[in-house]
Amino acid sequence: MLPLNDNITMKVLLTADRTLMSNYRNDEFLGFGTTAPPNVVPEWFFQLLFFPPIKTINGIPIQAPYGLRKIEAQLLNEGFEVLTVDPDHLSKYLDDAKALGIHVMDPFGLGPASSTFFHILKTGEPYVAKHFRLLLEKPELAKAKKRGLKIIVGGPGAWQLRLRPKFVDEHGIDCILDGETEKIVGKIFRTAVEGGELPKFYEVGAKESPSLDEIPEIRNPSINGLIEIGRGCCRGCQFCSVTLRSLRWYPYEKIEKELRVNMNAGIKYAILHAEDVLLYGSKTVLPDREKVLKLHMLCKHYVETLSWSHTSMAAVASAPELVEEIAELILSDKQELWGTEIGIETGSPELVKKVMPAKVRPFKPEQWPEVVKTAAGIMTDNNLVPACTLITGLPQETEDDVIKTIELMDDLRDFKSLIVPLFFVPLGKLKDKDWFTMEQMSDLQMELLIKCLKHDIYWTKVIMRSYFKGKWYSRILSFLYWLFVRIVERKAKSVYNMPLKAETHRVKAKT
Ligand code: SF4
Repeated sequence: MLPLNDNITMKVLLTADRTLMSNYRNDEFLGFGTTAPPNVVPEWFFQLLFFPPIKTINGIPIQAPYGLRKIEAQLLNEGFEVLTVDPDHLSKYLDDAKALGIHVMDPFGLGPASSTFFHILKTGEPYVAKHFRLLLEKPELAKAKKRGLKIIVGGPGAWQLRLRPKFVDEHGIDCILDGETEKIVGKIFRTAVEGGELPKFYEVGAKESPSLDEIPEIRNPSINGLIEIGRGCCRGCQFCSVTLRSLRWYPYEKIEKELRVNMNAGIKYAILHAEDVLLYGSKTVLPDREKVLKLHMLCKHYVETLSWSHTSMAAVASAPELVEEIAELILSDKQELWGTEIGIETGSPELVKKVMPAKVRPFKPEQWPEVVKTAAGIMTDNNLVPACTLITGLPQETEDDVIKTIELMDDLRDFKSLIVPLFFVPLGKLKDKDWFTMEQMSDLQMELLIKCLKHDIYWTKVIMRSYFKGKWYSRILSFLYWLFVRIVERKAKSVYNMPLKAETHRVKAKT
């Protein structure tokens, strides 16, 4: 740690835009609404429903995005005077701040979910992008910039800012940090408050990635009790940027400290964050039963409900008994199901071999469709309800690959899940390739998209019944969902000349 210059006030503010400074009514699931573009629902009402402002005390949010809390903790550890402030209350605190850090996830709506939404609906700037822009256009920021405030932007969506240098200059952004910034963020903010010259774009290389000891524990509560249990991924998919980071699992003590921070703030739920929660503590691609069970028992000591950020089809398929044991630990009268995100990406073993051969391990690429179906059965049996992703438009994708994915979708009709088709976005090892757009879509890709929509129309109704049971807004949400489906149907008919009716399922869905 560098010594601080005592003559300088190290006053730093941190914030994020309105779509990120929300706890989505304590349902992370609703956060997906922020990736939508404007639609028939009036904006004020859409916001009230999907991303109402987080509660604040004197403008200080009671919970904040986890990534922002990590940076807050790092800067506090380095002796800065740091305050995380709600975006609508910045003016109260800006006068004596020398630097403002802004956390971004999807600042221009170029992430896979928002860009796919945008391409299909074509109704304007997604909420995530609009609110990031509105934050930077606040008059109080313009005033503070005039007296020398430095604006530093970082977070998982920082890569998008490199694509729009004109926007960066016009909106007064001084520095963009991309990657795991714990080891350099103090140096950058110190330079900012001392009036030094900042790099316009700083990409944190592998050598600057923090070790476990160098990753601080959060000091203040995170949104929806999200806590990291590890970083990095061993699977190396070509289209993913996470793959460039080394794999590190947090020890129990580190996880427990963060659980305590949230528990002390009255948060009774946790979302465990890792690229594959089921591989917690494992040095291979097989789950370590003892470690994973111990992790869940530890968490259940602090919270009533528990979910996962991500896991993998291969890990689930390789450990059916373990998933069952975890279900017994998690599910209770307070929690009927638990959620996760999971990547299917394709139904084609050939494409698996080309772009994600390790995603299927310990199985072989030829087994991928079977692995997915086996995992789907295990998840459905244990009320683990995932939001799955499919990617179409990968540069290596052929017509035959799309046909295989369509066939897999047919086999997944009874899988209690959402399956979200995403257009290829150039990231990771494929970052120099071209974006995929609606204009390039073939009839087969359109058929796949429609199949996913039919699947989701059917299962969303079922999932929403148990997910939002007893909540006052469940009827409104059901209505909105119905409305959304009608819009997509109309769009599919009028623009793409495609009929769209909800899928008839072979078995009656259990709710
Ligand atoms: S398994 Fe997931 S996190 Fe890991 S490299 Fe593949 S897409 Fe990225």
